[in-house]
Amino acid sequence: MNLFNVYPLYNITPVKALNCKIIDKNGVEYLDLYGGHGVISIGHTHPEYVSKLKNQLDNIGFYSNAIQNPLQVELAEKLGKLSGLKDYSLFLCSSGAEANENALKLASFHNGKSRVIAFDNSFHGRTSAAVAATDNKKIVAPINAQQVVTFLPLNNIELVEAELKKGDVTCVIIEGIQGVGGLDEGTTEFFQALEKVCAKYDVVLILDEVQSGYGRSGKFFAHQHHNIKADIISLAKGMGNGFPIGGILISPKFTASYGLLGTTFGGSHLACAAGIAVLEVIDKEKLMANVNEVYTYFLKAIKAVPEVVKVKGKGLMLGAEFAFDVSELRKKLIIEKHIFTGNANNKNLLRILPPLTIKKTDIDTFIVALKETLAELK
Ligand code: PLP
Repeated sequence: MNLFNVYPLYNITPVKALNCKIIDKNGVEYLDLYGGHGVISIGHTHPEYVSKLKNQLDNIGFYSNAIQNPLQVELAEKLGKLSGLKDYSLFLCSSGAEANENALKLASFHNGKSRVIAFDNSFHGRTSAAVAATDNKKIVAPINAQQVVTFLPLNNIELVEAELKKGDVTCVIIEGIQGVGGLDEGTTEFFQALEKVCAKYDVVLILDEVQSGYGRSGKFFAHQHHNIKADIISLAKGMGNGFPIGGILISPKFTASYGLLGTTFGGSHLACAAGIAVLEVIDKEKLMANVNEVYTYFLKAIKAVPEVVKVKGKGLMLGAEFAFDVSELRKKLIIEKHIFTGNANNKNLLRILPPLTIKKTDIDTFIVALKETLAELK
């Protein structure tokens, strides 16, 4: 049987990984500034994470959400403490798309409406609010036929309010910082006005923090840079450091009832063990402080590279924008310099989204390699 061929692949086969390093089947070592697309938060194969997962697997890996699982309670408590959102509740699932699907459903159940407002260039997974970018064409893919998605430009509150006034909008879904779309983000003024208009028209504000959450922006959630409160926050990626786990944080204005949401795999013992290990390491190793320190260092270094026209993003969710398509640059960095970086729908953007454990010396390695490669491409 062949694999359904939807991913263009580099000819590299990783077989081992350690913190910010990946080793391929030929023993070649790579610096990971990509983190499997922002998934690796506490570093590959972190010893505490590995031992927690192994121990858990020796005991019980999975049972059922119909039976008590104290690990879910422990995870929720730790997450509430570290994010500062102790009064929110947690519903666990297994991926970012599933988190957003549940957020959209919950919004509709809450206010009985169905139209969704999302933003140009946003990405919310393969969900009702999905826009898949293929060769820069937008394919709007509604899964639930009743759910219509209206896309608006970021940072235009008048256009948002004009739609909310129509009375049929259930929710606005917005990323803390746009990931796949290319690191555009709402201004503080926009986020604060959005919070107000959503409350005014009984519209649920969903913050998609699947990529920008879990400390990546330098605060636990990127929207916390703007001093706003979301009604629902969706999570995944960094939450499990590679173990598939996702969830939504739900504000106290929602009331739970039996059967309202549900999942088979979400919140398994093994997933919770991974999630707890991640939170413990983020806390113990003060990884958010590291994010902010490395961010300041990176900014200074990257701004000194003359070919960089703009730096986008926050913390360790960063992009260097060039005046040309970076595909060749990215390829040379991987193949010749052995450094993984990320891409975006914006073809001129080279993305940096490493494990949150990255060190300044790794940034030095990257900057030297970048300068050399840019010189070769001239
Ligand atoms: N939301 C955002 C902001 C994302 O970046 C992604 C994935 O890149 C998703 C949702 C979908 O997550 P998953 O691929 O786990 O379904």
